Amino acid sequence: MIGRAAAVLKTMASGDAVAAPIMIVAAHPDDETIGMGAQLWRLHNALLLQVTDGAPRDGRDAAAHGYAGVAEYAFARGVELRAALEAGRAGGVRTEVVGIPDQEACFELISLTQRISQLLRETAPAAIFTQAYEGGHPDHDAAAFAVAAAVWLIAAEGRSPPAILEMTGYHADGPRFATGTFLAADRPITTIELDAADRRRKQSMIDCFTSQRDLLARFDLETERFREAPNYDFLQPPQPGELYYETLRWSITGEIWRRQARGALGELGLHAPPWA
Ligand SMILES: [Zn+2]
Repeated sequence: MIGRAAAVLKTMASGDAVAAPIMIVAAHPDDETIGMGAQLWRLHNALLLQVTDGAPRDGRDAAAHGYAGVAEYAFARGVELRAALEAGRAGGVRTEVVGIPDQEACFELISLTQRISQLLRETAPAAIFTQAYEGGHPDHDAAAFAVAAAVWLIAAEGRSPPAILEMTGYHADGPRFATGTFLAADRPITTIELDAADRRRKQSMIDCFTSQRDLLARFDLETERFREAPNYDFLQPPQPGELYYETLRWSITGEIWRRQARGALGELGLHAPPWA
């Protein structure tokens, strides 16, 4: 692992503040809390890039959660995020919202990659945290793709790229909804056991996401796990069998997602990416 990223994980694990610049790319308002909510207050100079607005365009989620429309639901999710960061005392975390409609990030891979690479040039973070490529949600996989592609672009310019660190989300484990773990890869995992104060702070953040209560109840508060991102081949499925999001019968399948990834790699000039 690149030294500065290893140092960031070590500092977080010891409970100390992280002064180095950090970037976080999360697909939805709440992914940052699920994956690293207990760590955010330790980050004194961080930029959290929110990829989507959290509100699927078809309006079903908005209606199910009792909102008048998609715009009202998106607005509420932004309010929830700001309240959660405040509850988590994450005053050192600035936010930028890209605002892609929920479930559609895979159709914006090129612009998303370009925005992230621009932010990497401007802020030169010691590490960039994002989500794992695991088929849990197409937007999570899009975040993983765009961060990897942005880092490849930065490296191709001769700049020193940040290490990509992953937080946990969710994926299918056979018929089970697996949380708090990664799909297997040849990468060491740093497990941070949350103490009572960490758990209280994280719970107070989770409580702010009232529209996501049912989903967030499926995650435990005992640990947060991190690892350096594997060198993914985004043209292959993240795991064999049906992906978790495919079980939800949305319009996006893994095949559609990978077609978008293939097109974006070509457009971004990543014809001979480092994973090959
Ligand atoms: Zn999410």
